[in-house]
Amino acid sequence: MAMNRIAIIGGGPGGLMLARLLQRYGRSPMVFERDSHADERPQGGSLDLHSRTGQYAMRRAGLESRFAAAARPENQGDRLYDADGTLLFDRDEPTDDRPEIDRTALRKILLESLLPDTIRWGCRVAGITPDDDGFVLAGDGWTERFDVVIGADGAWSSVRPLLSDARPAYEGVTLVEFGFDVARHPAIDRLTGSGKMFAVGYNRAVITQRNGFGHIRGYVGLRLAEATAREWQASSPERLRQALRASFTGWAPMLREVIETGDVIDVRPLYALPVGHQWQSRAGLTLLGDAAHLMSPFSGEGVNLALADAVDLAEALTSNDGWTSVTLYEGAIFGRAATAAKGAAQGLNGAFSPEGVAPVLKHYRTRVTDA
Ligand SMILES: Cc1cc2nc3c(=O)[nH]c(=O)nc-3n(C[C@H](O)[C@H](O)[C@H](O)COP(=O)(O)OP(=O)(O)OC[C@H]3O[C@@H](n4cnc5c(N)ncnc54)[C@H](O)[C@@H]3O)c2cc1C
Repeated sequence: MAMNRIAIIGGGPGGLMLARLLQRYGRSPMVFERDSHADERPQGGSLDLHSRTGQYAMRRAGLESRFAAAARPENQGDRLYDADGTLLFDRDEPTDDRPEIDRTALRKILLESLLPDTIRWGCRVAGITPDDDGFVLAGDGWTERFDVVIGADGAWSSVRPLLSDARPAYEGVTLVEFGFDVARHPAIDRLTGSGKMFAVGYNRAVITQRNGFGHIRGYVGLRLAEATAREWQASSPERLRQALRASFTGWAPMLREVIETGDVIDVRPLYALPVGHQWQSRAGLTLLGDAAHLMSPFSGEGVNLALADAVDLAEALTSNDGWTSVTLYEGAIFGRAATAAKGAAQGLNGAFSPEGVAPVLKHYRTRVTDA
């Protein structure tokens, strides 16, 4: 089969990394991205890149010095409180090699590494139809043919239904995301420490995370029916605050400050594909990143896997073994994603449990002992 014309659906970290690597290998992929430009929507909070996956991909892409210039190794601290505001764990000088980087900064580095006109902005792919030689992509008023189509289009991938019947399922937990400037919110600044702060109580958590440029993100999470989460997505910030106040009655005032003073950014019900999601290989079509293995953020692996997938897929697509290499790529990502997805499900259930903070404290202490 021909593998010359390659379409990547989705300009998130995984799709952009794949485009960068393919260009380094002399190919000319085209990226279709539904956002109309790079700054159309907030990209989300800070991400830590792990040495064997995310950082490895940056090295393979020749972007390690750009990453080092934008990364914040000093922001890897961990704090854990209970719902009364008692500090149970505080590690401000971690030995992990997991520097943080703002999502917007990571996307900028990847975008600037691409040749001009690699990305078709404002092109949401709505249909993918097989023909004799490949696939025809269709969007609003356009169609275009490709030999190979890569689904790098995240949780609600338009490519995945051609390979698998699996759909993301709601995990029973919703996060309400808040934004803070440290200059205006000194109490949140003090609460957060140098990196991430978790406060955990009965089926609930308050999280803050230091971002670059004097920003902090907050996440207030709780177990919630999916229909209620949908209603919350349509609620005003004041109604959301009222609902959260009611759910966090009795929590320490310094933790409730997150609810009272933050700027509401988004309501994020958490979805995941089944742990161990796989598909039968189909020539010309494959997936990477969240499209292949969406999981909750509680393993901190999602973006790292997306970047590592891109490294392996770029090699497979440019090898001399045709689609066989891509089939091997798929086998490899099924295994490593299953391990991470299991960890993410355990992390989520540990953080939102009737046992409150105890399982999380145990996890933190084990991590320190294992380090
Ligand atoms: C609250 C939260 C916190 C997180 N924290 C972490 C963390 O700390 N560490 C970590 O490793 N991971 C984290 N993650 C997970 C991480 O964000 C994802 O795993 C990662 O973004 C996946 O990258 P991706 O490129 O596969 O998909 P995405 O980042 O979802 O990118 C997909 C792209 O495809 C585009 N798109 C979608 N549909 C179409 C279409 N039909 N046509 C064209 N374009 C389309 C989208 O606009 C988007 O740009 C977190 C996730 C959440 C929700």
